Amino acid sequence: MRLLLYSLMACVAFSCSSQSTVSVVPPATPVEHPPVEARKSEQTPPKLFVGIVVDQMRTDYLYRFWGDFGEGGFKRLMNDGFFCADHHFTYAPTYTGPGHASVYTGTTPAIHGIISNDWFDKELGKMVYCAADTAVDGVGTIKKGGKMSPHRLMSTTITDELMLSSNFRSKVVGLSMKDRGAILPAGHHPTGAYWFMGAAEGIWATSTYYTKELPNWVKEFNDRNLPANYLNEGWNLLRSEATYDESYADNNPYEAPYPGQLRPSFPHLFPADLENRFDYIKSSPLGNSLSVDFAIAAIEGEQMGQDQHPDFLALSFSSTDYVGHQFGPQSREVQDIYLRLDLELERFLNYLDGTVGEGNYTLFLTADHGGANVPGFLKQYNMPGGYWKPQSMLDDVDNHLKSKYGAGQWVLQYTNDQFFLNKALIAKKKLDIEDIAEEIVAIAMQQPEVYDAKVTSELLEVDHIEKPWRNVQRGIHPQRSGEVLVLTKPGYIENGYTGTTHGSPFSYDSHVPLIFFGKNIPAGETWRPTAIRDIAPTVSKLLRISQPSGCTGEMIFELNR
Ligand SMILES: [Zn+2]
Repeated sequence: MRLLLYSLMACVAFSCSSQSTVSVVPPATPVEHPPVEARKSEQTPPKLFVGIVVDQMRTDYLYRFWGDFGEGGFKRLMNDGFFCADHHFTYAPTYTGPGHASVYTGTTPAIHGIISNDWFDKELGKMVYCAADTAVDGVGTIKKGGKMSPHRLMSTTITDELMLSSNFRSKVVGLSMKDRGAILPAGHHPTGAYWFMGAAEGIWATSTYYTKELPNWVKEFNDRNLPANYLNEGWNLLRSEATYDESYADNNPYEAPYPGQLRPSFPHLFPADLENRFDYIKSSPLGNSLSVDFAIAAIEGEQMGQDQHPDFLALSFSSTDYVGHQFGPQSREVQDIYLRLDLELERFLNYLDGTVGEGNYTLFLTADHGGANVPGFLKQYNMPGGYWKPQSMLDDVDNHLKSKYGAGQWVLQYTNDQFFLNKALIAKKKLDIEDIAEEIVAIAMQQPEVYDAKVTSELLEVDHIEKPWRNVQRGIHPQRSGEVLVLTKPGYIENGYTGTTHGSPFSYDSHVPLIFFGKNIPAGETWRPTAIRDIAPTVSKLLRISQPSGCTGEMIFELNR
C-alpha cells in the first residue's frame, strides 16, 4: 500500500514524465511470481470458439433423457466439460431474439434493446421484427425473409469484440434455421451470417448488409440439394417405441399435427407434393442435421480454426423450438429430437476433433429460453396453469377509457404483455399518462389469470430484488418498452390448446443448460446461480478480448482453476 502511495505521489509530482529521474520510491523487494505454467494469463486462447444455442432447451431435458443419450454428445460435454446447473435467463420476455442477443452481448433487453422478437416501435407507430431491415435486400433470395440485419441490436457482441481485438483477422460466422438465431450472435461485422429459407426455396441465404454475393462454398452447399433428400426420409422414431417411456403417449390431445397431416403421430412424412415443403426442414429434426452439415461447410469454406487468430462459429439449433411449440415438452417428438440432436452433437464434436483438433477449440452450449408445460396436460393431473386470452381485458380497458375520456384510440398496441399508450392523444387532451396507466393496472388486476400488473415507470423506480418482477425489470428498455406491464400467474400461457409457448420470467422458461467444454475448461459443475448474461464476459476471458460494450454480466469464476 505504501509503495502504491509513493508511486502515485511521484506520478503527480512529475506528471509521470520519463524525465522524472528523482524518485521517492523506495527500492522494490522482488515479487515471487508463481511458476509460469500455473498462471492463467499465460494460457493461449483456442483456435476456434463454438457457441451453440439450442432453441427452447430446458435444463431438465438433460436429466430426463440422460439414460438414452450416447457417450459422444451431451454426456461427453457434461462429463468432460463444466456444467452450470442453476443457469437462468434473469429477465423477461424469454423469447428467441432477446435470448440470442443476451447470450452474445452479456446483458439483458434493458440495455441491448432487443425487447422481444416483434415489438411496437413507438417512433414508427407500428410493429417491427427484431432483425428486419428495409434498407437491405436478400442475397440468394428475393423473399422478404432475406431483408435482415442486426441494426436494432444496441450493444457489441463477443463476436464483434473478437473482430476488434484481432484487427478483423478473425473469422466469425453465424448460422441458424432462423434469421435472428444467426444474425444477433454473429454481431455487427461478421465474416458472414446465414439462415435457411423454407417454403418453396430450401436454401441458405444472407443479406446485402453482409455481402453482395453468396460465397462459393454457400452456393456449392445449396447446389447439393440436401434438404430435398432429407425430406424424402421423413421422420420416424429413432429407437423402438417401448423405449420412449420418458414421454407421454403419442397422438394425444395436447399436440398439433403438421399441416396436411391427420394425426400428430409418428411416422411424420413430408411427400414431394407438400406445399411450402421446406418449412418441414425447420420444424423437424432434419433442420438440426442440415445445420451441422452447413456448420461443417462453413468451417471448411472459411478455413476456420486454422491460424493464430481465434475464429468464432455461432451455431443455433432452431428445430427443437418448432417441435417444442407444436408437440409440447412431454411429447415423444421432443424426446426424439433430443436423441437425434445428441447424435448430431457427437458427429460435430468428432468433426472438430479431426479438423481443428481436440484441445484447439472451446465450446459452450446453452439455450435461448425454456418452455412451459402444456396447460391442458397439467390440468389433467390437477396442476396449476391455464390459457390466457387478453381480449376481454383489452375490451374492458377500451370501454373504460372511452367512457371516461371520450372517443379515441387510447391504446395503440398491446403486445408482449405490455400496453403502448397513445401519448400524443393523452397530451392533446391534457391528461396525465400515469393516471391512465394506473387505471389500466386496476382493470388488468381484475382478470383471474393475472398475477400482477404495474406501471412501467413505477416499476423502474424501485430496485426489485425478488423474482419475477426483478426479471421483468431487466427486460424493460427505457425507450422501447410499453407503459403498463401485465404478468400472468405461473403456468399460464397465451396460446392455443395444443402445443406450448414461452416468454415468462418463471423457471420453466428461464432455467436452461450452460456447459463449457474443450480447451482451458476444467471438468466440473457448479450449483451457484449463474445468469445468461454471464456467458459473454466468461467467453471474453477465454478469448482474451474485451467484454461487449453493454455487458452487465460477471465472469463464471469457477472456470478459473
Ligand atoms: Zn427460441
